[in-house]
This record gives sequence, C-alpha cells and structure tokens, in this order.
Amino acid sequence: MKTFKIGGIHPSENKLSAKSPIRQAGLPKQAVISLYQHIGAPAKPVVAKGDEVKVGMLIAEADGFVSVPIHSSVSGKVNKIDAIVDASGYRRPAIFIDVEGDEWEEGIDRSEDLVTLAQHPELTAEEIVGKIKAAGIVGMGGATFPCHVKLSPPKGTKAECVIINAVECEPYLTADHRLMLEKPDEILVGTELIMKAVGVEKGYIGIESNKPDAIALLTERAKQHPHIEIVPLKVKYPQGGEKQLIAAVMEREVPAPPALPIHVGAVVQNVGTTFAIYEAVMKNKPLFERVITVTGKDVHQPSNLLARIGTPMSQLIDECGGLPEDTGKVIGGGPMMGKALMHLDVPVCKGSSGLLLLGEREARRKAPQPCIRCAKCVSACPMGLEPYLLATASALRKWDVAEENGITSCIECGSCQFTCPSARPILDNVRMGKTTVMALIRARNAK
Ligand code: SF4
Ligand code: SF4
Repeated sequence: MKTFKIGGIHPSENKLSAKSPIRQAGLPKQAVISLYQHIGAPAKPVVAKGDEVKVGMLIAEADGFVSVPIHSSVSGKVNKIDAIVDASGYRRPAIFIDVEGDEWEEGIDRSEDLVTLAQHPELTAEEIVGKIKAAGIVGMGGATFPCHVKLSPPKGTKAECVIINAVECEPYLTADHRLMLEKPDEILVGTELIMKAVGVEKGYIGIESNKPDAIALLTERAKQHPHIEIVPLKVKYPQGGEKQLIAAVMEREVPAPPALPIHVGAVVQNVGTTFAIYEAVMKNKPLFERVITVTGKDVHQPSNLLARIGTPMSQLIDECGGLPEDTGKVIGGGPMMGKALMHLDVPVCKGSSGLLLLGEREARRKAPQPCIRCAKCVSACPMGLEPYLLATASALRKWDVAEENGITSCIECGSCQFTCPSARPILDNVRMGKTTVMALIRARNAK
C-alpha cells in the first residue's frame, strides 16, 4: 500500500466519533462571524449595525485576489461589528448577528437531489472558478487558503492531476470520514468540477486504510467516474500533509518553498472543500456551515455536527453532553496540529475541523528535560529537517541558522515533539522561529 517515505509517526487514532452520523447543530442565539477566516487579506464588511440579513447573504466582500467573501450563516439583524478573540488567540473584527428565524436567500437549492456535471455540460472552467470564488470557499482541512487561488495555476505551470485529500490523519477527527460515508456522490462530482476547473483528465482520492468503509463505498461509486481513482494509503501521520500526500500518490517530491504542489503537476484539495465546491457550483450555496467533530475521551457523546459559521464552541459542547468536569484543555482542531482555545465562546469558522476536549491528565505537559541527542525527532520529521537544531536556533533567536537549515519547509506537524523522550517543546519553538524567519524573508524581498 502507498505511503510517503521520509519520517512519520503512529499516534493512537482515538476516532471516537467515527460511527456518529452527521447531525445538524442548533442555531446560535447570536452568530459571531470573523472577518479573518482565511489566509490573505481579511474581508471588508458590506453591512452595518441594524441591517437585516438572510442565510447566504453577502456580509463582507473579498479585499484583493488572495481573500474571499463572507456570507451570513443565519437570518436576523446585525447587532455590531466588534473585536473578538478568535481561535488564533488574537483580537480580530467580527460581525455579530442576532438570530431571528432561519430565512435563506432565494436561489440556494436546499434539496437532496444530486446534480451531476453531465447535467451542466455548458459550465466552463472560468465559470466554475468564479462560482467557487463568489461562494467564499477556502481550504477546509485547516489551511484556509482561498480555493480560487489554488485553482488558478501561475503562469508557466501546468496541472497534471487533482488529488483529493481524504486522509484525515489527525487523531480523533472524523468529520471528513463521515462526509465520505454520507455524501460520496457529491464528493465525486466535486472532484470532477475541480478537474474541469484546472483542465486535467485524472483525479485521485487518497484515503487512509483505517477507513475501509469509505474506501469501499467511494470505490463502488467511482465506477460511474472512470477518470477518478480511489487510492488506499497506509496509515501514517502526517499523510494528510499536502507534500506527503503528493509523495504517496504521485511519488514526486515538492521542492522547498517557494515551490508549490503545482510545480510537480498536482492540485490538492481537502475532501470537505470538495463537497463545499459541489454545493457552491451545483447548489448555488455559499460556504456558511461545515461539519466539525466534537470529541474527547470524557465527552458524553462524541459527535460530528453540521454547524453554522459563527456558532460559539460552547454551544457545540453543550450539544454533545456538556463540558466534562475535569477538562484541562480545549483544542481547536486535532491533538497534533490544533491550538488550545483561549475561551469557549470562540466561534466556528471555515477552518474549524474539530473541537477536542482533553482531560486534566491528558492535557498536562511533562517538564522538559535536556536534549539527549537521540535524533528521534530527526527520524520522525517528514520534511527531512533537524528539528532539535531548528528549535534551538529559534530559542536562541539565531534566525540565519534557522533559515539556512530549512525552517520554512516545516509543516508544523508536531511529529518531532510527539516523539521526543525529553518532552522538549520543539514544535512551539520551531513554529515561532518559522513565523519570524518568514516575516524576515518577506521584508527582505520587499526592499
Ligand atoms: S513540526 Fe516541522 S520540524 Fe517538527 S517534524 Fe513536523 S515538519 Fe519536522
Ligand atoms: S528527540 Fe528530543 S532529545 Fe532526541 S534529539 Fe530530538 S530534541 Fe533531542
């Protein structure tokens, strides 16, 4: 079975919610919709206090090419535009909407009927990308990169295939797994739309072999889509990393930044994003809700919830049985790449794939010990880096050393920290160092 070759680890899977069908979360009393839900320039509000809005209505427009519009996830009245502390831990502007009823914009197809590409042969690549852009679609695996940018390959590059990232290698998370079991045909049509958008004849959907039911179902349904191949992958973290997935499926290595997957002919999209693309193009539905896994060993009912953007996380926790008594940490995302939330009213955003409640003991970090030069972090690193060296260079603010040793190639997967017997805070230091070095490079290039 295929997999990537360099590094990788095998954390416990803990897919507690894998058998929980997706259920609709309740509407919030007030939706708090951040203007910073994607990589790039934040969206610019086009509504003001007192405006009435409907579900799916444009409330903020894109500010430039690397930016996306934002649509209301609820109907009601704009209460204010104010700052919130979001999942990143920063204070950022958001639109607060008091919810009244659930009135949707006209033209959104809310039926369950499957719409195929064969029913719309007139759709051009430009129209598909235009609809994706207008619907505010971003990478929903957590990267939140504007989708239309990825589907507009830079001059001099040529896509050869589309790879759908259905790996979901983060422990605990099951939102993508459930989506594949419940919306397989829509995902296959979404894949065809992406293939048409970038002008390729071949699509792959990479799924780890710990989801045999999804592999079997999609393989069966893909018989109707001869240009799409389902690729079972060996279970290994971080197989869902874009570069690792390309290495596994195409056996090609993406060079160090600024090279992109398109430089080896690949366009990669997350499976949740692929479903959102189907809904945007075929159902005229902007991105205003998503599936999020709410889970943890002490959570009463680990679940996969279809939640409106802007719903407070506290409400989702209540819908899964409430906050367990000994909760030590609440993480936005999975345990490997997720970040601890500052408070429980952080709203769901387009990139919210999971909410993980860790017990006090599970959350407690061991006291770091001196590095014993065991090189386990080096063996685990899927990017072939020397994490102990990068972490030390970052801690000592030796940015030139960090840059020379490839810190910008780090994908922040956490494999190094996971494997370290001395409990060194490697990822924390490398993340901080990478952010600084990238800022220094940007400043240098701007001169
Ligand atoms: S977090 Fe970065 S340095 Fe650590 S293993 Fe992952 S890619 Fe390597
Ligand atoms: S795994 Fe930890 S102890 Fe071993 S070399 Fe890396 S930083 Fe040092």
